[in-house]
Amino acid sequence: MAECTDLSISPSDPPLVAIALGSNLGEPLQQLRAAVKVLGQRPGINVLACSPWYCTTPVGPPQPNYWNGCLVARVQLSPWALLKTLQAIEVQFGRQRQQHWGARTLDLDLLLYGDRVIATPELTLPHPRLAERPFVLVPLAAIAPHWRHPLLGETIQTLREQVGDQGIIAVLSDDAGETTFATAADRPPPEPR
Ligand code: ATP
Ligand code: CA
Ligand code: CA
Repeated sequence: MAECTDLSISPSDPPLVAIALGSNLGEPLQQLRAAVKVLGQRPGINVLACSPWYCTTPVGPPQPNYWNGCLVARVQLSPWALLKTLQAIEVQFGRQRQQHWGARTLDLDLLLYGDRVIATPELTLPHPRLAERPFVLVPLAAIAPHWRHPLLGETIQTLREQVGDQGIIAVLSDDAGETTFATAADRPPPEPR
């Protein structure tokens, strides 16, 4: 699977989809990597690229930092069937819904489904908070910078530049196996010996 690949995705390519992954309970990185594998093993989902993993500060009630990433897949499922699949995988990974924006073992959000626009509470496309979230746009821009937001008309790279890096603490590339910290001040203290 490619990482950090510019897929040069355009709205003429559906059904390509972008999915956001997040976790801040249990073993977040292990769960995220396992979730990518499980997704790719589902019938009708072909994972094409996965971003590096980004450690980010939480939004919502006080809770541990998150690990976030994004993937791009080609799917042979309707948007609604794909959402059901994502929700089933969240449950498989122990997701419990207790508090709005509370801590979770796994969150899978459907960000983009080609250039489809859907406006229902059950499923809104593009994801309604996509354009305001560095923790989504930074990983997504790493694999799909040219994908245009179907409502705003801007590319993911432009939206990513508009929101900046706020809340991004560190990045971990599975390929390089290294964690890079955004600023020295964000680096956690060394482990006690
Ligand atoms: P946010 O949506 O702000 O990222 P969240 O991920 O914590 O918050 P959830 O509790 O996981 O929110 O989901 C709330 C509801 O959002 C779900 O019941 C789901 O049906 C709905 N939903 C609407 N559009 C989408 C989408 N594009 N992707 C995922 N869920 C969606
Ligand atoms: Ca979410
Ligand atoms: Ca969600």
